[in-house]
Amino acid sequence: MSTQQHSKVSIIGAGAVGASAAYAMLIRQSARELVLFDINEAKVTAEVLDLAHGTQFTGSSTISGGTDIELTAGSDLIVITAGAKQNPGQTRLELAGVNYQIMAGMLPQLLKHSPDAIILLVTNPCDVLATAAIRATGLPANRIFSSGTVLDSSRLRWLLGERLGVNTASIHASIIGEHGDSEFVLWSQASIGPVPVEQWRGPNGETLSREEFDEIALTVKTAAYKVIEGKGATNFAIGLSAARIVEAVLNDEDAILPVSSVLTDYHGVSGVALSVPTLVNRNGAVRRIEVPMDEREQAAFTKSAAAIATALESLGL
Ligand code: NAD
Repeated sequence: MSTQQHSKVSIIGAGAVGASAAYAMLIRQSARELVLFDINEAKVTAEVLDLAHGTQFTGSSTISGGTDIELTAGSDLIVITAGAKQNPGQTRLELAGVNYQIMAGMLPQLLKHSPDAIILLVTNPCDVLATAAIRATGLPANRIFSSGTVLDSSRLRWLLGERLGVNTASIHASIIGEHGDSEFVLWSQASIGPVPVEQWRGPNGETLSREEFDEIALTVKTAAYKVIEGKGATNFAIGLSAARIVEAVLNDEDAILPVSSVLTDYHGVSGVALSVPTLVNRNGAVRRIEVPMDEREQAAFTKSAAAIATALESLGL
């Protein structure tokens, strides 16, 4: 976390997610210059003012914005959060049609003004949109990718940490696959500190049972539904997740994050975006890291790819 000289990030969509991402990036000083863009003038003006009013307390990052897409010109990184969100009970894949139209409409304009920008998609269904964006623009997979299961993995680490009484930073576990109903925990590679999770013993020597693993995975998978039911949106944790990914890019970190980018011959999957451990640096999602999967995980991964392919087909892509 450090302020990058001359780094510019534009956030498209000043809704719950876009405003929270801007707030997180201001506080963490993820970029020197932040721009918020939305078609709703009253909303974007109000959010920019409210955020700007707090910058006395946030360091040297600046925030501006409005409804003119030219404000985004020269961005190093563009975070797309614009679009319809899930209603209570609605799946992410059900948002595909409307959000695809919004994204496809804005991408040429955004790239015209920021031809070298890395594009981070947060709008759902983010795997479908990342695939569609790569197909529409012909850009390489490193340039446009989505936040994927970075948020879901953070939810998993928090839940495991709470359950086991261990700090989240010492939990090494990831959700991979679709950012959606077919996502799954890569339990075979998860560890608590240096201990494989399946061998972890609590203070009384107890291990986690298969039922407990399944219950934790289900709780994470359905977490968004629960938050949306209670407050209409998920915004703070995704805002922080987006800030974290932005920092990995702008700081040229070579960090490994479970972002979602279009795969080529990865565990039998090609041509669709799914989350896998990925090396992220100044050039974006540069390398998908090969990771072992057991038989159950491989089957789940293949199922995730099929879910995205079906959604793309329904969009005529
Ligand atoms: P929201 O309704 O609060 O905000 C969406 C904003 O997009 C609105 O302000 C709207 O005016 C704007 N918008 C619509 N069309 C636009 C256009 N053409 N150009 C610019 N702005 C436009 O929704 P939200 O809660 O902020 O959610 C945004 C998206 O993020 C949803 O698709 C949601 O499902 C997704 N989301 C993703 C994750 C993730 O982990 N990937 C997590 C949470 C939410």
